[in-house]
Amino acid sequence: VRAIILSVGDELTLGQTVDTNSAWISRRLAAVGCDVAAHLTVPDDQHAIEQAMLESVGRCDFLIVSGGIGPTEDDLTRQALAAVLGEPLELNEAWLRELEAFFRRVKRPMSPLNRVQAMIPRCSRMVANTCGTAAGIDATYQSGDLKTTCRVFVMPGVPKEMKAMFERDVLPHVRAAGGGAAILSRTLHTFGLGERAVSEKLGDLMRRDRNPSVGTTVSGGVVSLRINSRFGSEAEAKERLDDTVGACRAALGDLIYGEDEQTLPQVVIEAFAWANGGSAPPVPDVAVAESCTGGLIAKMLTEVPGASWHFAFGWVTYSEYAKTKLLDIPEALLKEHGVVSEPVAAAMAQQARIKARSMFGLGVTGIAGPDGGTPVTPVGTVCIALHGPGATNVRTFHFPGDREMVRDRAAKMALTMLRYRLLGKELPF
Ligand code: AMP
Ligand code: MG
Repeated sequence: VRAIILSVGDELTLGQTVDTNSAWISRRLAAVGCDVAAHLTVPDDQHAIEQAMLESVGRCDFLIVSGGIGPTEDDLTRQALAAVLGEPLELNEAWLRELEAFFRRVKRPMSPLNRVQAMIPRCSRMVANTCGTAAGIDATYQSGDLKTTCRVFVMPGVPKEMKAMFERDVLPHVRAAGGGAAILSRTLHTFGLGERAVSEKLGDLMRRDRNPSVGTTVSGGVVSLRINSRFGSEAEAKERLDDTVGACRAALGDLIYGEDEQTLPQVVIEAFAWANGGSAPPVPDVAVAESCTGGLIAKMLTEVPGASWHFAFGWVTYSEYAKTKLLDIPEALLKEHGVVSEPVAAAMAQQARIKARSMFGLGVTGIAGPDGGTPVTPVGTVCIALHGPGATNVRTFHFPGDREMVRDRAAKMALTMLRYRLLGKELPF
């Protein structure tokens, strides 16, 4: 089963309102195995709406329209639909009475303009609106030669009204037409390698004609695998999805830190909780000494509910003076190696651990830019150290991008080093 989603509104094409309806409807359709062939967006212009409808009805089984059925002059979706169907608009007495009752209930006079909201094309069905005055329309388009049939649903643009109507009066029809088919999805997250490197490790799993399909997206340095499984039944879709998730995990191993809504800091906090067997640790798990990340690592870790058992505290030692004053980093060390150096990062990590009496200490020093780079330590150079029982890991990274990117990637890399340490493994890159 195929659908096209059409959103109507000047505010959408002008970029004043983000079209959240289409994204939401797409996700709901996917859950019942319906493929979405296109998202279309047109302004409140009758000709443009008709054009979009005419182009769509031949390409899908369901055309799902939202917006443009309010009571004002610029609401033209019902007129456009009537023209496309070749039917006149007729007054629906039942909905007119509902409208009159609604206005009596809210003790407001009903404007004659509202009457248009009870008009629908002949041969179509009114779809009740339980939270507003704009009723929806359920119509079937058929071409003159009867070769093309398309069910058209028109819904209000207001997201809350649209969602209620969609769940109750639209989705069941799509589900029935799909005969139990389902599209199930899962997302796996990695950090540390680029999109190209991840896809090379996946090899044939990313073939375009594969079902379940595997695709990658990148956001904030996180490369995510999006796995979509389309089958005739939910049980089959689920079984095959699990198989493919297993194959992706086999190909990428520990590079995958989480699934779906899981975040990197969450996974680190969970790993601590797991290592501690679910009870409060005898000493806090981690403390951080941050320079170029300015507290970002502390922010990320403390965003996770329950972090207080694991996160001790952090220092933002941005200046050399702060590093010597708060962390007792010897001035000689700073002079000898430079502030952005592995020995200084290691000393920061060690001092954080000692002062906080924690299991691990993280130290981060680097150059986020745009200024301050030198030929030896260009912008993007970040030294990260992890000091803990038995060993100190220190690494120098060169992160691309602007100040915000360098700081963000450095914080995520520090958490990644911590995650691998808790796994008892070396960083794989
Ligand atoms: P309408 O049904 O066209 O009168 O739309 C009413 C309101 O719903 C608009 O003013 C928008 O704020 C909102 N809206 C309409 N279409 C969308 C959409 N596709 N995504 C998100 N909000 C929308
Ligand atoms: Mg509108």
